[in-house]
Amino acid sequence: MGFYPLMLPFEKKLKLGQLEVGGGGFIVAAGPCSIESREQFLEIAQAVQTAGASLLRGGIFKMRTHSHSFQGLGEAGFEIAEDVRERTGLPLVSEITDPRQIPTLGSVVDVFQIGARNMYNYELLKELGRSSKPVLLKRSFSATIEEWLAAAEYVRGAGNPNVILCERGIRTFERVTRNTLDLSAVAYVKAHSDFPVLVDPSHATGVRALVRPMCLAAAAAGADGLLLEVHSKPASALSDGQQALTIEDFRALMNDLGRLLPALGRWLEPGPLPRGAARASLAKTLATAKRVSLVGPDAPFTS
Ligand code: PEP
Ligand code: MN
Repeated sequence: MGFYPLMLPFEKKLKLGQLEVGGGGFIVAAGPCSIESREQFLEIAQAVQTAGASLLRGGIFKMRTHSHSFQGLGEAGFEIAEDVRERTGLPLVSEITDPRQIPTLGSVVDVFQIGARNMYNYELLKELGRSSKPVLLKRSFSATIEEWLAAAEYVRGAGNPNVILCERGIRTFERVTRNTLDLSAVAYVKAHSDFPVLVDPSHATGVRALVRPMCLAAAAAGADGLLLEVHSKPASALSDGQQALTIEDFRALMNDLGRLLPALGRWLEPGPLPRGAARASLAKTLATAKRVSLVGPDAPFTS
């Protein structure tokens, strides 16, 4: 079995604006699978920010299995992305599917996401290596850990050290879940590479009810944060509604993380504070989180 060799000592943490990734804090990137409209994206963005998310996710170019499925808003989504990013102040992560999108998408996102289907697209990786914008590199559903780290080296080797890995489940014989979440990969890359690593339990499980326990397990396994799908109306989402947390689910999860992380010597990395009325609401959420207690093994947290 070929283990990936220990790499040269690169800086293990990186900065995303004010946000530190990989320095012990835990970051939470949350938002819809796809940006569908201004109203939808703004509502979800403000809700996740108020609940404590430090980054915003939202697909503009979607890589869907079927050509007749919603493909994302494409360039029509740029103005919405820019507006919501401006209004919340949250850094935005969104998938890039083609090197020709670098200048345009690059002007509205803070992190380029490489999707599982493009992890092997070495020309795209090399092109992103020539930019300095952080890259969130998802593991392909069929990639070994060695191949995943080798893909990350395409970006770093071309000059961009700002790579964050993302474990999003691999394909196995199991069909009850969409993929199989490989948390051992998280512990492995933390021990054998310099890259921060996030976990995406939404695509790893494909099942809303399984997302929360896998988020907690990811934190315990040493992940540097999460990439999560959240929707205000999952039943009418244009993509991946079955795995999206509701806003209420997300609030409960953030509450859980606020209690779990200190036990692991970790903390929730704070994102930019919301503006206006939402700022007071977040302050209240944080104050409430300090008073919560668990009632029964499966009971929700209550104050
Ligand atoms: C996504 O994040 O919406 C996505 C398409 O993920 P993946 O590339 O992991 O399937
Ligand atoms: Mn999705």
